[in-house]
Amino acid sequence: MERTLVLIKPSGVIRCLIGDVIARFQHKGLKIAGLKMMQLDEAILREHYAHLVEKPFFPLILVSMTRTPVIAMVLEGVDAVEVVRGMTGSTNGRKAAPGTIRGDYSMSGQENIIHASDSHENAEIEIRRFFKPEEVFNYTDDLMKYLYAPDEV
Ligand code: ADP
Repeated sequence: MERTLVLIKPSGVIRCLIGDVIARFQHKGLKIAGLKMMQLDEAILREHYAHLVEKPFFPLILVSMTRTPVIAMVLEGVDAVEVVRGMTGSTNGRKAAPGTIRGDYSMSGQENIIHASDSHENAEIEIRRFFKPEEVFNYTDDLMKYLYAPDEV
């Protein structure tokens, strides 16, 4: 079973979208393996957005991402990284497809509501970045047989 990391960014927190975003993932059938609110700082953002540190807009990302705490989530499911990226939509909310989170809730390339890991490798790194091992839970539930066929899991 694959895991991926999602952050509800300050744009989603301030706009009261925490419940809507979590509900979308739950209704899809993704399992919440970890969930918490945390205040990000420059150090963790420089690590998380290392590929953007040299961009002229990086200072704006720092301001935006530290405006309020974020919600961090570990979501679990078959092909969770790909499924969650698909639900997230492309980076710029104005160009993201309707039906995606960014397409439905964002008008911005920066204030785009959520972050979602873009590969299995990055998901593992990002889960370790935001969660201690004991904050990510393995628990059984009876839903599995209603979410997947036996040969899918
Ligand atoms: P994604 O979040 O879709 O994986 P990136 O990793 O390229 O996209 O960018 C990380 C975040 O940096 C974006 O979600 C967005 O908030 C911000 N960002 C990316 N490109 C720009 C840009 N050109 N101007 C402003 N903010 C940007």
